[in-house]
Amino acid sequence: MKTKKKRIRIKLRDPGKLLRAVLALVLVIALVIAVPKALSRTGEGKIKLSQYPLLKSTLETAGIRTSRSVRGGFTAENLTTQKCMLGGCVCIAFEIPSSKGEPLFISRDIKITDAGGLSIASPNCLMLSSTGKHTVSVSYLDYSATMEFEVVPPTPDGLYAKTLLINRYSAVGETYVAGTLVVRDDVEYAYGTEDGVSRLEKETAQALHDMLDAALAEGYVLYALSGYRDYNEQKELYAEAGGSSQVSVAPPGSSEHQSGLAIDISWGESYYYLSEDMEDTAEYSWLMEHCFDYGFILRYPKGYERITGYEFEPWHFRYIGVDAALEYRDLGCRTLEEYCAEPRNQ
Ligand code: ZN
Repeated sequence: MKTKKKRIRIKLRDPGKLLRAVLALVLVIALVIAVPKALSRTGEGKIKLSQYPLLKSTLETAGIRTSRSVRGGFTAENLTTQKCMLGGCVCIAFEIPSSKGEPLFISRDIKITDAGGLSIASPNCLMLSSTGKHTVSVSYLDYSATMEFEVVPPTPDGLYAKTLLINRYSAVGETYVAGTLVVRDDVEYAYGTEDGVSRLEKETAQALHDMLDAALAEGYVLYALSGYRDYNEQKELYAEAGGSSQVSVAPPGSSEHQSGLAIDISWGESYYYLSEDMEDTAEYSWLMEHCFDYGFILRYPKGYERITGYEFEPWHFRYIGVDAALEYRDLGCRTLEEYCAEPRNQ
């Protein structure tokens, strides 16, 4: 099919006009190229080596041919499993790519000089747990740059939120709750239905109800002692604990109770009092055998304190959903950290 082409003819009568037009065009092209570079998430771009003598000599020693400038910068590798993490973990490296994009030179010996409100998981890795936009400053030798990360909050009801990993190293924001909080009048709460700590995320509350009912049918009386706790309550608890006691109390934002997915369960005559001795009871054995069927796991088991960051708590159960809990049991996991680290396809 023939299409009519419109021809635009420019008559050049004034040579000065041509020069101005060329200059304007060059300026537009320069702006188009410069703007995305300035917004580059990875901080990659042209590095003027005369400004970074240490970097220049290191690259030369590594056999990289350097002229006045070199293309390269910081790159972020996402280590998120997407299953348990709010924002995940990214590790940053300094890289000089070849013209084909493959790394010619790579170093992970970088420094995060300002984490921009995120927590640092290891010297070159960040936990992207706090939602929102973050500007992170990084340096390698005498070269430094900023990188931008945006962490989007998880959807309230998905598997993603249910298996969300919350610990000392992976905190949630001040307002984070995994979903709608409810108080069920058919659950035996130690503090009654009026108390704020009786609130739980809706699905968690249903699962707890079913588990406590099943236990009761077999003669085990279990109480829901403490569920939801907001950021400010945790802040007060943490401040009250003070000094060495802070080892057993979660810093604000890193308590699972803030998500509404965690419940402290108690039993026996002194059901207001939580202690490690609860391990030697029939109720504990029943919970350890059946909790997975209702979507719960014991979150801080004995002997795994180094991984979880918390002392053994035979009373603290965490809801992760039935599918995940059964998989957790079948994989032989003992901590949520271990479960989340397992590479998987979902
Ligand atoms: Zn607890």
